[in-house]
Amino acid sequence: MLQKTSHYMRQANLIGGEWVQADSGATIDVINPATTLKIGVVPKSGKAETRRAIEAAETAFHVWKKTSALERSKLLRKLHDAIMDNQDALAELLTMEQGKSLAEAKGEVGSSAAYVLWFAEEARRTYGDVVPSPWADRRILVTKEPVGVIAAITPWNFPSSMLSRKIAPALAAGCTAVVKPASQTPYSGLAWGALCEEAGFPKGAVNILTGSAGEIGDEMCSNPLVKKLTFTGSTEIGKMLMAKCASTVKKVSMELGGNAPFIVFDDADLDRAVEGAITAKYRNSGQTCVCTNRFFAQAGIYDRFVERLAAASNKLKVGPGLEEGTQQGPLIDDKAVEKVEEFVKDAESKGGKVVTGGKRHALGGSFFEPTVISDATPDMMFMKEEIFGPVAPVFRFDTEEEAVKLANDTEFGLASYFYTSNLGRAVRVMEGLKYGMVGVNEGLITTPEAPFGGVKESGLGREGGHQGIEDYLDTKYVCMGGLGL
Ligand code: NAP
Repeated sequence: MLQKTSHYMRQANLIGGEWVQADSGATIDVINPATTLKIGVVPKSGKAETRRAIEAAETAFHVWKKTSALERSKLLRKLHDAIMDNQDALAELLTMEQGKSLAEAKGEVGSSAAYVLWFAEEARRTYGDVVPSPWADRRILVTKEPVGVIAAITPWNFPSSMLSRKIAPALAAGCTAVVKPASQTPYSGLAWGALCEEAGFPKGAVNILTGSAGEIGDEMCSNPLVKKLTFTGSTEIGKMLMAKCASTVKKVSMELGGNAPFIVFDDADLDRAVEGAITAKYRNSGQTCVCTNRFFAQAGIYDRFVERLAAASNKLKVGPGLEEGTQQGPLIDDKAVEKVEEFVKDAESKGGKVVTGGKRHALGGSFFEPTVISDATPDMMFMKEEIFGPVAPVFRFDTEEEAVKLANDTEFGLASYFYTSNLGRAVRVMEGLKYGMVGVNEGLITTPEAPFGGVKESGLGREGGHQGIEDYLDTKYVCMGGLGL
């Protein structure tokens, strides 16, 4: 292991600027999914530690909110530089706990830094308004203020960048944070603590807890000092957290599950579509909320698309993430593999044909073969549930209307993709898709400059874009009278 990696691999929680263990001394094991060997432990914190972290964040808030936007911006730039200076070490740590290829891990760390830089810039643009007053002797001002202490809970699939999209806008807005990374990938989350210390953020501005999700989550949702909860994870847990936050009427942002369609029309550039399909399907071994869940290919190109997608899938190099040239790492754990196997079995029992892959990889453990299934039909599990694995089911369709209807036939509405060379069709389909994000002839669309988020049961709020900081700000209307005008 690199020495620098060890520096960022913190086996403690950060509360009020101190690195501490759980009150009970209990710990959680962290496993490398590529080897199934234990990497280390992290504290199993609970309610009491969470309450102390929230109180530390509240104390820090009273100082932090008074800093100027320029000061906050400068510190965030330092944080960006600290991340980029240590990109390799942070990527290695990420791959060790999460499994994705080192190249993807480097990309994710780079993306984390990019979000920090973006919000360093946005910190200085949280403009208010001076509104023309209907009264000659009064003035109307609208200002933006930080909401206060925010709590964040994030998943294991992007253990660094999911936190970046929450910590960076929170700090930029003048909020302080208490965050809980996923138990399977806590080190990339805890590394944010070391990085924030290096950049010079005040003690208590960012607090990081690992441990019992239920206890930490309950305290975050019920503690009145927390003014906002931001969550990325499954729709099931998101709904539960929203309900819990209702008791103290907290603001909530929810980045939840997806069921992304990827439509290829007869008039598409097929080479480009296959290239986009590979990225949109197999990134992070298919374990992203914006990964394609359902491919829809028009009848005229159906066979050719399936054949080319299968050929390209077959070429992907599966292996441990730290190994040179690996393109697809293991799935996060065996449960994830069992779930993927269930999808394949269900499809085969309903007439689906495995064109390539379809089973556990010869490497063993939680490695799974890149898989393409043709003759997918709407009665298969793919239509309703997130696969979260490297399986590409391809449905056949005849008309544009049918494709849009099938694509929208889900309670999710996060990312969607389609390929066409017809301009009119591009506009019709783009407007017809009930999704928060649409890639037109593009399979990879995430960037800090654009608002990331979903509609329907995929969530509330946006991360990135100029919208991303708004969720961390309250609007205040001030009516100034008695001006003697
Ligand atoms: P998950 O089971 O919902 O877990 C996400 C986080 O919630 C983890 O930190 C987990 O903690 C925590 N959690 C679990 N139970 C909780 C409870 N009762 N109270 C409070 N927190 C609780 O989701 P996942 O399986 O890790 O992640 C995959 C899901 O995330 C997929 O549905 C994916 O689509 C979605 N996702 C969405 C986006 C987006 O931007 N829309 C991005 C990435 C992922 P523990 O780890 O300790 O259990």
